[in-house]
Amino acid sequence: MTTSAPLPSGTEAAMSAGSTVTDRLVGANSRYAAAFSDPGMDARPVLKVAVVACMDARLDLHAALGLELGDCHTIRNAGGVVTDDVIRSLTISQRALGTRSVVLIHHTGCGLESLTEDFRHELEMEVGQRPAWAVEAFRDVEQDVRQSMQRVRTSPFLVETGDVRGFVFDVRTGLLREIDPA
Ligand SMILES: [Zn+2]
Repeated sequence: MTTSAPLPSGTEAAMSAGSTVTDRLVGANSRYAAAFSDPGMDARPVLKVAVVACMDARLDLHAALGLELGDCHTIRNAGGVVTDDVIRSLTISQRALGTRSVVLIHHTGCGLESLTEDFRHELEMEVGQRPAWAVEAFRDVEQDVRQSMQRVRTSPFLVETGDVRGFVFDVRTGLLREIDPA
């Protein structure tokens, strides 16, 4: 991996000269904070729901699901796969912060469909060290959603596994399609 990859066209023009994308985000935060008023919420999600989703930039979870500030926990990673670290977050979400429902969201055109576990081998060849983590690549998005639901339902650490539902978000239509767990 190189750190000097060219910026996508348009990105550079969108930033003022000499600033980075992070500078731009910090500037946006100043404007956000200027209009912000403390809603006085505590940390427990209002809807008692945790959403596990892919990190894909085309998936705006709050807009797509009609969620407001304070409604949910959002746990995202590459693929929206249920890893040990996702179980860690869900366990804290349920046991310390009172959530009761779990929603799992994968999506069409996921980058993980174009990878294989060979990615780990390629990394090892490049850097001399094999990562401890699995790539969690998949070929069949529906089957991966089913596996994710199963991992949540069978976790011994979770107290609420009765309301676990899985979906595929279509990045072209914005629609969710529910996946039958069977
Ligand atoms: Zn994805």
